[in-house]
Amino acid sequence: MTETMLFQKIVKAMQSIRQEMKQVHGDLNIPDIYFEETRKDDGSHCLMPLVALKTIPCGWLRAGGGCTMCGYQLVASLDRIPTEKNIIKQTEYTIRTVPSKIYPLITFSTAGSFLDTRELSDELRPKLLKMLADSGYKEFNFESRPEFLLNHERLSQLKEYFDTVSVGMGLESKNNLIRNVCVNKGTMLKTYELAAEALQKHNIYYDAYVLVGKPFLTATEDIEDTLKTVQYAFDLGFGRIFLMLCNIQPSTLTYCLYKKGKFEIPMLWSAIEIIKRLPAKDRSRVYIKGFNRAVPMPMELPQNCEKCNIQVMDKLIHWNLTGDFKHIENLPICNCIDQFKERLAVIADNPLKERIEQFLDGFTPESICNEA
Ligand code: SF4
Ligand SMILES: [Zn+2]
Repeated sequence: MTETMLFQKIVKAMQSIRQEMKQVHGDLNIPDIYFEETRKDDGSHCLMPLVALKTIPCGWLRAGGGCTMCGYQLVASLDRIPTEKNIIKQTEYTIRTVPSKIYPLITFSTAGSFLDTRELSDELRPKLLKMLADSGYKEFNFESRPEFLLNHERLSQLKEYFDTVSVGMGLESKNNLIRNVCVNKGTMLKTYELAAEALQKHNIYYDAYVLVGKPFLTATEDIEDTLKTVQYAFDLGFGRIFLMLCNIQPSTLTYCLYKKGKFEIPMLWSAIEIIKRLPAKDRSRVYIKGFNRAVPMPMELPQNCEKCNIQVMDKLIHWNLTGDFKHIENLPICNCIDQFKERLAVIADNPLKERIEQFLDGFTPESICNEA
């Protein structure tokens, strides 16, 4: 089976899994807001609000079933289309709730792509940007798939309102089979490369999300793929890399596989191992995410064992805030490292492509997604 055929099959599989998606009815005038402690370029820290506007869901989730681990449907509005008025009210709510005087740096996005005109029209987007700029926010961060970052008019519009703009893109893996079949990302590397070029022209910083804990991969394959992807992203000019430890969200392939015992959430040791193996010059620009909170709040989070979870998470938090390797290299070893070593020693019986083929050949939503 060719990679294209596998891709078509994973899209079909994801589309059938997504039929189970349930709407979480929330107030269409209130966005989801949560906070993250962030390290700034000068080494200082600040608390940054992350605002996820309730719009229609990500276009890729609607068209191609979305990424195999993504639970962003819980943040978006599935069955009611928010009006322009709703979204303006969400922005007013943001300005009231997370005032710019306290939070000059803001992540303000949709649960998809801020520059996708189906989520926010070209008429509405500048109104929101103006509201935020007039309210005094100094730095603007948003999220987008790469194909929406090729439009020069929209990119320059962002800079009309904010001097400092940055965007986070889900890259997940540089390997096409892994990115487009294991993760069902539906993107081409060429598009990231073109997006990088366009963003550089507009002096917009860009960061990458890379998934750790990709389905169908052994722990060792996963770590090696992550290291290659980080290298590729830095070569392409990505400023920061956020390693997203895979968690479990409903109506996802990872959830179905997890229930059947065919997918393991990565242990925190995976993140530690990756940081240790990164070249020293690049390390401090690699952050670990998704282990203590994520939006929407996952059903299961990555962990080690009860004895060391808090301590290892604490070290990862300090790592994110300081980029100081001593937090990682001086980590006391717990007995659960043996479990991690066992995972690392697993060698797959057959090549990745064959593993995926076998799974997709036998796939029906009933066979994989029903309760065990
Ligand atoms: S991870 Fe991003 S691109 Fe993928 S389905 Fe979710 S919102 Fe869309
Ligand atoms: Zn432990």
